[in-house]
Amino acid sequence: SITGLSVMLLFVLQAQAPVRPLTLQDQVEALLAKMTVEEKVGQMAQVTLDVITKGPNEYVSDEPLQLDPALVKKALVQYHVGSVLNTANNRARTPEKWYEIISQLQNVATKETRLKIPLLYGIDAVHGATYTAGATFFPQQIGQAAMWNRALVRRGAEICAYETRASSIPWAFAPVLDMGRDARFPRLWETFGEDVYLVSALGKEMVDGLEGDDNNVAGNRRVASCLKHFLGYQVPQSGKDRTPAFIPETELRERHLPSFKAAIDAGARSIMVNSGIINGISVHANHDILTKLLKEELGFKGVVVTDWKDIDNLHERDKVAATPKEAVKLAINAGVDMSMIPYNFRFCDYLVELVKEGQVPMTRIDDAVRRILTLKFELDLFKTPVTSFKNYPEFGSKAFEQSAYEAAGESITLLKNTSNVLPLKKGAKLLVTGPNANSMRSLNGGWSYSWQGEKVSEFADRYNTMLEALQKKAGSDAVKFVPGVSYKDDGKYWQEKDVNIDAAVQAAAGVDYVILCVGENSYTEKPGDLHDLSLSANQVALAQALVKTGKPVILVLNEGRPRLISAFEKDVQAVVQTYLPGNFGGDALAAILFGEINPSGKLPYTYPMYANTLVTYDHKPSEEQNKMQGMYDYESDFAIQYPFGFGLSYTTFEYSDLQVDKTVLNPEESFAVSVTVKNTGARAGKEVIQLFTSDLYASMTPDVKRLRGFDKILLTPGQSQKVTFTVKARDLAFVNKDLRWTVEAGDYEVSIGTLKTKIQLSKTHAFAN
Ligand code: BGC
Repeated sequence: SITGLSVMLLFVLQAQAPVRPLTLQDQVEALLAKMTVEEKVGQMAQVTLDVITKGPNEYVSDEPLQLDPALVKKALVQYHVGSVLNTANNRARTPEKWYEIISQLQNVATKETRLKIPLLYGIDAVHGATYTAGATFFPQQIGQAAMWNRALVRRGAEICAYETRASSIPWAFAPVLDMGRDARFPRLWETFGEDVYLVSALGKEMVDGLEGDDNNVAGNRRVASCLKHFLGYQVPQSGKDRTPAFIPETELRERHLPSFKAAIDAGARSIMVNSGIINGISVHANHDILTKLLKEELGFKGVVVTDWKDIDNLHERDKVAATPKEAVKLAINAGVDMSMIPYNFRFCDYLVELVKEGQVPMTRIDDAVRRILTLKFELDLFKTPVTSFKNYPEFGSKAFEQSAYEAAGESITLLKNTSNVLPLKKGAKLLVTGPNANSMRSLNGGWSYSWQGEKVSEFADRYNTMLEALQKKAGSDAVKFVPGVSYKDDGKYWQEKDVNIDAAVQAAAGVDYVILCVGENSYTEKPGDLHDLSLSANQVALAQALVKTGKPVILVLNEGRPRLISAFEKDVQAVVQTYLPGNFGGDALAAILFGEINPSGKLPYTYPMYANTLVTYDHKPSEEQNKMQGMYDYESDFAIQYPFGFGLSYTTFEYSDLQVDKTVLNPEESFAVSVTVKNTGARAGKEVIQLFTSDLYASMTPDVKRLRGFDKILLTPGQSQKVTFTVKARDLAFVNKDLRWTVEAGDYEVSIGTLKTKIQLSKTHAFAN
């Protein structure tokens, strides 16, 4: 009957009534509700792989995995540790080996623990999958900044994410969003340089490349990013790592915060805390920075992880906590969610005690654990705790390597080319000399197969040093190699040996050109602290001797920070900055020297001339008071070697027709700036167009100019293109004394190249944030 049918239908419908699927939040809450204090605290702990591994581990060794089962159990089962980082014994491993290690760890985490919560493995995958043998290495970040090419930065991050996942790891401690404003600092090369607009723009690309456009990291091609080091790292007064910095809040907000804000808005899922001390307060203990600013004001929902051992440092190094337990209390109450312990488990014991004593509120613990579990669910680790290398056919592929080569080619920056000495003539005879000429280690820099990059030589066979690439390009017969000075390859980065300058000078007889490859050996962090920014005395002596031979000297710089070269720069014919271009840097350099690649890199920092002229391009007018007195100025020979944004090409570009679409602007409006760029030379080339503005008068002394836009275009000979930028009035704002982003009524100069025009702000306005 009809009635019977409808009853049946109703029954069927009811039986199939969709149950609301559990949201990610529901799953997190359900799990959190089941957890003991000990289990929660364990999720907040991160140990290094060393702590659970037996004996020395050789990379690519066929030995069975040397995890120590008792120590693994102690960490994962007894202490409920939720995260492991980096490698053991400072070694890179093949993807197969990584799969083996991480599978074993995930087996314990997801089978032998009460709640079966998967482990979150994190690693310093910085310019590629640092600790994976066979991974594709792009130039280090400073070189990537010199490309001024958003798409290529993103591509590098996509490859890095893919190959990190291919190593079974879903979390990369990148990008570095600190400001590289101090040439002395040993991590300058890990940054995108000195300008906040450039750092913010490229940082966003890197986050998008790592995490994916769709912001869906669950797929097995993406990783969670980790922005570092929040906030105000890299500018300590001494120029040395992890020493005190003094940064006014206006400066902190205007120059150091925007890159992090842009990346957070782009969806970045974790952030690492600055290991240093700002304005007398260790950042790891700074509630204002970690909670009020980051979590409340910026609304950051991801995981806040400490830097290496930095909770202990509050006690041991900074002396702001009288005991290690007090240090834990300070950091967790300040807003830290996860502690990179990394070696011992007392963090867990202390934090459990602190919670039980009521010294750390349970709400704070729940907030931290919620963030960590959310990340684990977002990464889909509960369903796929480990991904197999077998699913990554493109790992180390030719296509990936081609992108890394392209990136190296776009980063290398031609800084001087007297009488067009470059490109080199075909058939030219070369003397290749200098300690960097035949080193893969110096091409890659730190975070390459090992922390300080000191193990690069173990992987060197697959790639070409600058010497090898030049030999391939010019023919071995045309290339003499006499190093003159060498690095101690197994030594500290500044240690040199085999100084034989005379041998190099003698070898210069009979060649057409001297290719002098100098700079630095690899380093990072504190071991890279410097007492003197000059190039080493041996290298200066080598250069000074070679310029006296009368042969044209092509100076090739291969360095993480600009080392002073003013003692001989005026006597060399050409200068090429390679930064730390990665495994394909040698090939890219040779292609540039022989004219197969037209250089298009531009300096992402100001190259200083003297130790007392460390100044950034966006300085205050008072830095130029000598100019006002007619003595010297920023861009004259007296102060700096090469300006920010500078770089030559083998072709020439002409700029014309700078236009703005309005001359008076309201604070809520945007304006368009356009310029026509023409290739007036004989060969195709890429040009970076840089848009600057200057606030001519303001209530706080304005910077002389600020970058507000950039684009990179390819032009064939004779071709011209109109390039348009849209700039919001908001983009012209500065942080005023009341800590408000403000634009003030008055005139602003707009400049591209040497062209200038003006725009007027109709009224003063403070923005909401
Ligand atoms: C560095 C971080 C790095 C961490 C983990 C620290 O010493 O400052 O940049 O991510 O170690 O290796």
